[in-house]
Amino acid sequence: ATPTALLVGTGRGAQLGILIKGPEALESSRGIDVAVLDKTGTVTTGAMQVTALHSVGCTDTADGFDDLTVLRLSGALESSSEHPVARAVANAARESLGSRSGTLSVPEEFRNHQGYGVSGVVRGRSVLVGRRRFLEDQGIEVPAEVGGLLSYAESQGSTPVLVGIDGHFAGVVIVADTVKESAVGAVAQLKKLGMEPILLTGDNEGAARRVADAVGVHRVIAEALPGDKVRVIQQLQAEGQSVAMVGDGVNDAAALAQADLGLAMGTGTDVALDAADITVIRGDLRSVADAVQLSRRTLRTIR
Ligand code: ADP
Ligand code: MG
Repeated sequence: ATPTALLVGTGRGAQLGILIKGPEALESSRGIDVAVLDKTGTVTTGAMQVTALHSVGCTDTADGFDDLTVLRLSGALESSSEHPVARAVANAARESLGSRSGTLSVPEEFRNHQGYGVSGVVRGRSVLVGRRRFLEDQGIEVPAEVGGLLSYAESQGSTPVLVGIDGHFAGVVIVADTVKESAVGAVAQLKKLGMEPILLTGDNEGAARRVADAVGVHRVIAEALPGDKVRVIQQLQAEGQSVAMVGDGVNDAAALAQADLGLAMGTGTDVALDAADITVIRGDLRSVADAVQLSRRTLRTIR
């Protein structure tokens, strides 16, 4: 193999918006059988929006919380997180303050629970924001009546985020995301190149299915806990598949490193970029297929 051809391939990649870390990455692109795609921020824009808010009760007392209390306490806590869900909640809380009142409270305590949610103290109150499992693990009982609301939101393709205040369930913030315009074409291209696309997400099954259907992906793995993403890649590799992983978040880093080829969205977090072999500059999903195509062509000229 001539290193020159690999360098030319790498240079051509840069023109296509694909930054390749080394010639080895180009080599591994060639034999990819499956492309595992993270959902939030990879297939979707990651610019989530709050679409609804449901608090428990109508007054801010021991047995009830009003909408604004739930939104502002959760938003204040989420302003310390970079997660797409967190940004949506914090933005909505900021908007609720209007232009005059200014900024959200700064949490006295904050802790991120990767793949689950956030916890901390805001204005002397203990606040939890995250998936259902997270609140339950932290000892908060989610009332049975809430179940219907959660399944409805999920069936609509949304992500319900639960809020706990001072040890009590306080409400649900519903957030939703939109699919990237480039995603439909990108998935079609991956299939044409002989790769099976798989959607992998920590989000709920309903939201995952809606996105998968919208872009033409058949296989979906939802509700993946942080460690599960790596195990999914390992499992596919154990089946003899050569796996590409495409992601953008801190929670994707280990999977990106485990995959035969890791591609990070340039719009993603530094941890993801560091773990990947290839950076897709504009976060355009079509670049994944471009990278594989480029490596196949480059290596063909070498042989
Ligand atoms: P994804 O694979 O979609 O990027 P994550 O593994 O980061 O998802 O998170 C899984 C789920 O955990 C999210 O869908 C959300 O319900 C919950 N979650 C994670 N981080 C937060 C947060 N900062 N605030 C609220 N919920 C969160
Ligand atoms: Mg993501």
